[in-house]
Formats: sequence, C-alpha cells, structure tokens
Amino acid sequence: MSNDNNQNIKLTIDGRTITAKKDEFLIDVMYREGIRTPSLCYSPGLSRPGSCRACLVEVEGMKGSKPACELTVCDNMQIRAQSPTLEREHRFILSMLLEHYVDDDYDPDNIDHTEFGYWLRRYNLQPLISKNHAPLFSVDSDPHPSIRVDFNKCILCTRCIRACSEVQGRFVWGMADRSDRTHIIAGVNETMLEARCESCGACVAYCPTGALSDRNTSPDFQADEKIMTTCSYCGVGCNFDLNIKDGLLHHITSNPHAPVNGMHLCVKGRYGFDFVHHPDRLKQPLVREWLLNGTKKPKGENRGKWIPVSWGQVLELVAKKFSDIVNESGPDALGIFSSAKCTNEENYLMQKFARQVIGTHNIDHCARLCHSSTVAGLAAAFGSGAMSNTMADIANEAQALFVIGSNTTEQHPVFGSMLRQAVHQRNVKLVVADPRKIDLTEFATLHLCHKPGTDIALVNGIMHLIIENRWQDNEFINTRTEGYEAFRDSLNKYTPVHVSDITGVPVDDIIKAAEILGITKPMAVIWAMGITQHTVGTQNVFSLANLQMLTGNMGIPGGGVNPLRGQNNVQGACDLGCLSNVFPGYQHVTDDNSYNKFAEAWALSNRSKMFGNTPGLTITEMIDGALSGAVRAFYILGENPTMSDPDVNHVRKAMANSEFTVLQEIFPSETSDYADVLLPGVTFAEKDGTFTNTERRIQLIHNAVTSPGEAREDWTIIADLARHVLKQRQQKPKGKHAGWDYQSAAEIMDEIAALTPSYAGISHARLHNGEQLHWPVKNKDHKGTPILHVGKFTRGKGLFHVIDHLPAKELPDDDYPFCLTTGRVLYHWHGAEMTRRSQPLITLYPETLVEISCDDATRLGIKKLQTIRIVSRRGDMIAKADICNRVPPGLVFGNFHFPDEANVNNLTIAAIDPVAKIPEYKVCAVRIETVN
Ligand code: SF4
Repeated sequence: MSNDNNQNIKLTIDGRTITAKKDEFLIDVMYREGIRTPSLCYSPGLSRPGSCRACLVEVEGMKGSKPACELTVCDNMQIRAQSPTLEREHRFILSMLLEHYVDDDYDPDNIDHTEFGYWLRRYNLQPLISKNHAPLFSVDSDPHPSIRVDFNKCILCTRCIRACSEVQGRFVWGMADRSDRTHIIAGVNETMLEARCESCGACVAYCPTGALSDRNTSPDFQADEKIMTTCSYCGVGCNFDLNIKDGLLHHITSNPHAPVNGMHLCVKGRYGFDFVHHPDRLKQPLVREWLLNGTKKPKGENRGKWIPVSWGQVLELVAKKFSDIVNESGPDALGIFSSAKCTNEENYLMQKFARQVIGTHNIDHCARLCHSSTVAGLAAAFGSGAMSNTMADIANEAQALFVIGSNTTEQHPVFGSMLRQAVHQRNVKLVVADPRKIDLTEFATLHLCHKPGTDIALVNGIMHLIIENRWQDNEFINTRTEGYEAFRDSLNKYTPVHVSDITGVPVDDIIKAAEILGITKPMAVIWAMGITQHTVGTQNVFSLANLQMLTGNMGIPGGGVNPLRGQNNVQGACDLGCLSNVFPGYQHVTDDNSYNKFAEAWALSNRSKMFGNTPGLTITEMIDGALSGAVRAFYILGENPTMSDPDVNHVRKAMANSEFTVLQEIFPSETSDYADVLLPGVTFAEKDGTFTNTERRIQLIHNAVTSPGEAREDWTIIADLARHVLKQRQQKPKGKHAGWDYQSAAEIMDEIAALTPSYAGISHARLHNGEQLHWPVKNKDHKGTPILHVGKFTRGKGLFHVIDHLPAKELPDDDYPFCLTTGRVLYHWHGAEMTRRSQPLITLYPETLVEISCDDATRLGIKKLQTIRIVSRRGDMIAKADICNRVPPGLVFGNFHFPDEANVNNLTIAAIDPVAKIPEYKVCAVRIETVN
C-alpha cells in the first residue's frame, strides 16, 4: 500500500514550479528551495508554534494572507510569497516586534548582524536605541561564562526554549511575567547554570535577534570568511564553521548543513576552540642542551635546558639518532605512538614511517587504551570491528536502546542529545546499565545499577531470560549464525537470582530488562569504555555481539552493535594501520598476501627485508620495554602517556629510562618533561586532511588559520623526517608507493585508497563535492556503507561465543575498601591539554572533583568540596569531594583531566585484557583519607 504522504506533488511559488511531498508544510518547502520570507519563530528542525505570524503568503483561491508555517501543500497550489500587500503586512508585523526592542549594536551595513537584523534592513526599519528609549531589562543579567543575555532584544519567538528542550533535551528556558514584562527565564529565578544548562549554546545558535549571543564575540563582528570543518574533540564528528578574521580563528558558529549534527554542537565544540591561539603553543623546534653540546644526557625527568633550533638542524639530529639506534639495536628498539587526534593522512604516514623507514611494527595509539577490545571482539564475532549503524539511523529508527558503559550525554554529547530526543519525541524504550546514576538514567525506562566489572553476568542473565521466554529470533540464528547451541547451554546457570547476586541488580529489574530488549525491535546496543576498559573487555564485547545475534538485531536500521569511539579520529587511526598487528584496512601483518603487498608497494633500494611478519609491541608493552631497555627511543605524535596511561608512576619511570624521546605536539605537555626533542605541530584548524568519525564517516578538515611561529602541518613534518632518515640510512624509494614527496594531504589519501580496500573509493575531491561516505567505499563509484552486515556478516556467519563472568583483577578489601572507577567529564577532553587551555571550559570546570556517595561521605565525616586523598596500591591523588548520589555507597569516580597529584591515573591498575591488551581503567581498589 503506498504511503499517501510520500506522494510527490507540484506547486508554484511566485510563478516557479516546485516539487514537494504532499502535506509538507509550506514553510519547510520554501526554506528548502531558498525562498526567503520573514519567519522568526520558525527554524528548520524545531516545532512550529505559528506565533509570530511573520511568514505570511497569499494562496490562490484563499481569502487574505496566511502564515506559511501553518499551511500544508497540495497539488497545483499557487502561492505568492511577494506582493505589495504582503510587503505592507510583513513590514507591519516586524514593526510591531520593535515596540520594546532596544538594540544599540544594530548596524544596517553589517550583513553578519543576526537574522532579525537582515529583515529590518530588508524592510528599512530601525530598532530603538537605549539613549531614546529606556530598556525594560538590565543587560547581561546572567553570569554564564559563554553566553551573553539581553532580554531587550528578545522578540519572544521561543526558538531558544524549543532548542533547549527539543534539541538538547534540557528544559532550561521558559517564559515568565505578563504583558510588556513578558520575558524568557532560566528555571525559576535561577541562572542558566543553576537551571542545569549544559552550555551547548543551542539557544544562541537558534536565537534570531542576538538576545542570546556568544560572549566571546562582539555584536559588530564581521568574519573575513567562514570555513566549514570537523570538530577535533569526540568521535561524533560534528561539523561547524570557523569564523576567520585576519588569519585568526575568532569563534565558531553552527552550519545548518552539517551532516551529523545540523545546528547542534556541544560545549566543547562551540566554546572550546581558544586553545588554537593559546600563548603556550609550541612555535619552534626545541632540543635539549645535551644533544647540542655533546655532554652526557642527564638522567630521569629533568633533561636540561631547551634550545631552539631550525627545522633543518632538528631533522638531521633526529634522523641521525634514530638511525644510530636502529644500526646498534635493530628497528624494534624504537617505539612509535601515533595520534587519534591527528588526521587519517598523518596516521597513515606514521605507520608507514614505522614499518618502511624504521622497519618495525612497534606502532600503536590510544585505541589500545579505549577500544582495542571492541576491535578484537567484533572482528572475531562478525569479521569487522567497527560501529555497524549510523547515529541518525539509531536516533530515528530504533524502538529500544540498550546503553551500557557509555555516559553518552557527557562523552558524545550531540549523540547523547539525539538519544534524549528519541526518548522524548518517539517514546523509545531506553535501558541504561551503568554503576553510576549518569544523566541518561533520568530519561531511562530502566536503570540497571550493576557493580563495576559485572557486565558479562548481567548480559548473560538477560539472554538467559530471553531464551527462557522464547523471545530469541530463531530465523536469524538459524540462517546467519554459528555456535548457538554451546552458547545457549552456557547460559543455563545465569538465573536471575544468581545474576542478581553477582551484579547487585534486583531480580525484577533483570526480568524487566530482558522483556524490553527481547521483545522490542529494532533494538540498538550502544557502548563505550565502561565495557571495553576491563581485563575482560574483549569478552564483554562478545557478550553484546551475542545479544544482538540472539535477538536478530544485526544488519537492520535502528539496530546493530554501536561502540562509540572516543577521540575525534580514533576510528581513522585504527583504520589506517596504527596498530601493532595490522597494516591499513586491518590487513594482518601475519598474512602473507598483506605482507607481500606492502613490502612491494613501499620497497626501498638497498633493503631486502622491509619489516617482520609478527606483530610489534603495543603501547603498554613499549612502556615496559623502555623500562627493561629493549625499547631505547620513542617517536610520539600528539599523545600524552604520562597523563592518560594507567598507573602513570610506572609510565614516568619508563619514560625517564628512554634514551631519546621525540615528541611532536601543539603544547608542551606533561610528557615533554621526559622528551629530548619537541617538534611543533599544528591544530585541526591549521591543516588539511580527513577524520573518520565513530560511524565510519570520512570528513574533511581545512587549513584555515595562520600557525604560530614555525609550527608546521604534521604530515609535512613526518614526511620530511622520513626523507632525512632514509638519506641517513642511504636508502631510496623503489616501490610504487614508497616515496615521501607528497604535495598535499589529498595525494596521501590517494595512496591510502590504492592500498586500503575499505577506503578504495575515498578521495578529497569526492568529499569536497559533499558526498557522505561511510567505509567500506569499495571504488570511486561506490556510495559507501552506512549499515554493516546487511544480509551477511563480513566473516560469513556471525559467531556466538561462550563467555563466563570473571571478577576484576583488583577488588576492594580491608585495606582498600572502595571501588574506584574512572572516566571523563562533559567540559574536558582526555588529558585535557586543549580543554584546560580554553577559558570557557576551564571556567566551567576548573579542578578535579572526585564523586563520593552521600552515605560514605557522612560515615567518613567528609564535607562538600573538602580536600581528600584517594590512595591505591600504586599511588595517590588529591582532589575535592563531590558528594552526590551519582555513585552508590562503596564506589568513587575520578577523572584524568588534571595533572600531577590530581590525576586519577596515579591510582589505576595496569592489569590488561590478554587479547586486546587494554588496561582495566574501570575497576581498582582504593581507600579514602581526609586531608587537613
Ligand atoms: Fe565536537 Fe563531539 Fe561536541 Fe560534536 S559532540 S561538538 S564532535 S565534542
């Protein structure tokens, strides 16, 4: 049966024939076709209150003018959007809005000055100024660090109220008072922050008048140019416009055409950009004095004075040291850390440098610390280790969501907002499993507050009940999977009572969860590091893969397995081979065909054997290697292991033992204390290239602002260094893709496409043309693959795994009676090298807080924000106590955004998952002491 609303119809607007869907709202059609009319309360993506009545049009056959936001279109409709009558009516409505509207900043010549300003100019109207008309409201009455509030410019269009509730899923703004005192209000006589504003700035982005505006820009600002790019924080991959003036990044604004996020951004994306021009930026290559004067290297952390040198000098010096070490101890004496913050092109070059130029597979990056267990688990179960569906597909199609181990609204905030919208607007059933009462639990149908490290028991218990109630998808299991019987039998012992004993979740809640997840379809599973950062991380992932096969939720819209990747380009860094066991495109170094392919493509003269065919060392193994002396030197791109690795005291000792460490960074970081050479790279706003977001979408970034001093695009530094090392080692490129004379990042992508089947169809030209490409993109005509495993798994049949609960490596005991779990907060990112240098973000979250339950705080006599010491077997940290009900008694939560004594990684344990080698950040035992 055909859906009537999908029927195409034709209408004319001002004589132009337009195709639309039957019953579309006329205002949506006009917006899409670029036909402008004053539409102040309307904004695409928000509901239509029809309150301002400014979008009047005339319809043939209808008496009088009608608001376009209230008309639905039908076949042969004839519309006039312009006429002398409409001109008078529009002008009259706009002039009514000016009755109390006071705008001293209005400049009719400034085309950037607000949407309302555009219409005032178009209809030759002038707002009031405060000299002649006393403003009704005091200006800037809300002390929000990033948002300026001026109710005198408010026309009560309510876009801000709707943006906050409908887009962000918060309800900060409302309406207060009557008659000419009517105004928007945050909460009930609260400031925005007190009303739980998350500082996403959606209200600012949608405000048409400047009543809500960015505090970091002046109302008379005019950009030289706006350049659309991709966010450099999380894996959601939001796009926005860099507003550039005189070569500097002035501020960030939404771009309605952003494919992932539309107008929406989170606080980091919108306000956390000022690190780009921070005075701490590295501006020149620096080397330690001992390297220049031939003295012996000082031992330990303090490696002596930094001396600025030229690029020529530093590259010669590094090339010589690396070559000497390779000649003396072999290529595996070098450890190379690539960066999930850097582009695909740069990551490709880093692993090519490791494998071709040095000859080692000792290449790794922070995916080891966040999602290596996802990659290993999903690759074994399905043949591909990536998110199977897209964020929009989940937000729009799923009927149930199972979020486990993902604090989505803080770590992937724009996707978190999409999940809130799915609950609010489509009544999607949301089950959240998390040891903490994270924000999403407020929106959940059910919160399963399980003990840290008991995910397998919980999921097995749910699956036990699904099978007991015969809710499994037998057809899917029979036709698309293998290993079912053994798996089914292994669940027998996971009875609700047994599972409740292990997890602490009440039996009734396990039963309710099984019913929701077993019956509602499509159901998407979403996870992040709460699942992966365990010694059983890979098994946790197997459990979730089992659940999705059991319920037949693979290969369909709104379902799938959806690991949310942490950093902006951690997906791309994995895809491009910055892992010790795979070449680009997950082609195994142990596989003969892959080995021969890359050995031939990157062949060098004077070198018969390029690299070995056994995997290299992972990050954690390279750190241990430095301590034992097996790894003598490091080349680190954009990573800060002395902040972000577990048990950082151990890491510091290892880094202090390294003979020669080269760090390529944008700031001097905590790791630079241990470095001998600092190479100044650039930020995301100063280079060309691509990032791949969590849903496998490849997106461009652009070189838009002037770099400080002699800082250079990172891909040019890596390529230059490669040429210098090859010269030192008297080797020349011979293979088709062995050279390093790249003229652009686009050229590097062409080489990637030639060697990486899943990126074969990617080119910068296609992305510039606006094509939206999710890998695999099999050739230049292929449109990409938004949903994986449709009809068939990458490995053929999906493989069920038998998985049993195993306790975490270190559990609370008499000496260390609390369980510590770790993570990030909304306002900071990772080691916070960027966010601590962003004024709005550091103002909003200035210091480390450790969450402790109200019960525990009372029992230990700890007061709100009292300084406490948390001690584990590996070290201690000092922080203020955030007494709250987000954590249950017995659990504390800390973050790793602040260095030295405030870093929770002083406490974490380096016990690792034996398969993926990922550390157990999420569980260790600690005690709490008060500090005078
Ligand atoms: Fe950037 Fe992630 Fe925020 Fe989007 S959600 S603006 S990608 S940090």
